[in-house]
Amino acid sequence: MIGSTSPNLVDGRLDAKIPPGPIEQKWERHRFDMKLVSPANRRRYTVLVVGSGLAGGAAAASLGELGYNVKCFSYHDSPRRAHSIAAQGGINAAKNYRNDGDSVFRLFYDTVKGGDFRAREANVYRLAELSLNIIDQCVAQGVPFAREYGGLLDTRSFGGAQVSRTFYARGQTGQQLLLGAYQALERQVGLGTVTMDTRAEMLDLVVVDGRARGIVTRDLVTGAVESHAGDAVVLATGGYGNVFYLSTNAKASNATAIWRAHKRGAFFANPCFTQIHPTCIPVSGEHQSKLTLMSESLRNDGRVWVPKKVGDTRPPDRIPVSERDYYLERKYPSYGNLAPRDIASRAAKEVCDEKRGVGPGGRGVYLDFADAIERFGEPVIREKYGNLFEMYERITGENAYRVPMRIYPAVHYTMGGLWVDYDLMSTIPGLFVAGEANFSDHGANRLGASALMQGLADGYFILPGTLGDYLARVRPDTMDAGHPAFRATEVEVSARVRRVLSVGGKRTVDSFHRELGQLLWDYCSNGTRS
Ligand SMILES: Cc1cc2nc3c(=O)[nH]c(=O)nc-3n(C[C@H](O)[C@H](O)[C@H](O)COP(=O)(O)OP(=O)(O)OC[C@H]3O[C@@H](n4cnc5c(N)ncnc54)[C@H](O)[C@@H]3O)c2cc1C
Repeated sequence: MIGSTSPNLVDGRLDAKIPPGPIEQKWERHRFDMKLVSPANRRRYTVLVVGSGLAGGAAAASLGELGYNVKCFSYHDSPRRAHSIAAQGGINAAKNYRNDGDSVFRLFYDTVKGGDFRAREANVYRLAELSLNIIDQCVAQGVPFAREYGGLLDTRSFGGAQVSRTFYARGQTGQQLLLGAYQALERQVGLGTVTMDTRAEMLDLVVVDGRARGIVTRDLVTGAVESHAGDAVVLATGGYGNVFYLSTNAKASNATAIWRAHKRGAFFANPCFTQIHPTCIPVSGEHQSKLTLMSESLRNDGRVWVPKKVGDTRPPDRIPVSERDYYLERKYPSYGNLAPRDIASRAAKEVCDEKRGVGPGGRGVYLDFADAIERFGEPVIREKYGNLFEMYERITGENAYRVPMRIYPAVHYTMGGLWVDYDLMSTIPGLFVAGEANFSDHGANRLGASALMQGLADGYFILPGTLGDYLARVRPDTMDAGHPAFRATEVEVSARVRRVLSVGGKRTVDSFHRELGQLLWDYCSNGTRS
């Protein structure tokens, strides 16, 4: 197995190659120690970037801007369709515009704590530092972040933090950030540094002499299987939450790319480290193929409660305040409704297990805006969350300005993924992994509004340096897709596709997926021990 001969394996232990020195100086020093590729030589290197969501789009645009020859792949028909577009709530940054005590160190501290002290601290510190650059970069691109009356960028609070550091563009933060990255990417496409191959699904990784040297793709329109060679490969292919079948992820999100890379020797880390998001629209029946997130930002103003009495089926407005259990405020007074996601999710499951859940099947809790509407008025709430209320009404037929929303936890985000070192390189030399596809340094981004930050830090700021360092240490060579390793991988891919397409079974693929997903949900999810 290739991973077992990885330079990251030292005496049987994985070495993340964390630079020495005080934590606040590691990245700066490392940037100085990294080798550079001279501008004139960059075009001699080909980098394959798989994925054009926030992480891949940012990486491809930045590497193209530097002058590398970049080939970017996506199974979508346009980079704008990446699942990143679904992100609603916001992106964290330690700008301290509110003067409420935020700092790089506090973002670092909150993130390490939110990651249950499992995170790789050097990486988290770097992430907190880079959060400042991300906002500047996105504003320069024209991302329309919300602003407050004085013109400064506005922020709101998110779970697990007592400062207000989440930058947002109404309930469409991911979409706006993705448009920024997409414009940067298209600019490079126009300049000829990046070629964009859409509707091309990566089905395997090609490893030659222990190094990642290319990929095999299948054209989703024609079915043609093709090889692509490069000096390095970046996987920015998103998360694998859909293994649970029902999740807030887009239906198209799948784990094929990282799974194939794993089969070729890249180590996989923390596969069970899954984020269950507390505020999703409850499951309503067998017909569903995905679940809908109601942004965590709603917990800024919505109060979570269930009836105190078991089996209380009265409509919410008939239950007096004295007979309601605002269980998050009761149990976690310092964070209240903004308790971290895992805590809020487990608490919701507990009250439903006690048979105090609401709505059909009793697997729901209320998220109630009545107090906020009384205090601020409906127009203020509409201004902040209008599109989310509208989406809720379209799905449930209920007007959440009049009756409380009903929410329940759902699989949302996978912290597990391919293991990477400080440079974001996997255990296969030359294979880099960015965004949700990597293991995010042991859940360094476990809190809300951190995934966007991590994906963009990886793509805009980390990979352009660390990948350059790798390329500077390997010479560009003339290997192309005519190498026998590519031919052999193509043959394997074609055989696999043929085998699957010729099964001739009587059940749909989805029915197997649903059954397997249910098993995972029952035995390896919210509050279960496996
Ligand atoms: C509903 C929802 C709301 C969210 N809200 C927030 C939020 O407010 N704040 C926050 O920080 N995070 C949020 N997240 C998480 C965040 O949006 C994602 O973690 C992040 O956008 C993932 O970005 P990515 O670039 O890693 O992957 P994606 O955006 O999933 O992009 C993956 C790319 O890889 C391509 N791809 C995948 N596999 C292959 C293959 N085999 N071959 C070719 N191409 C492939 C796809 O076409 C796509 O271009 C939210 C997530 C969800 C589900």
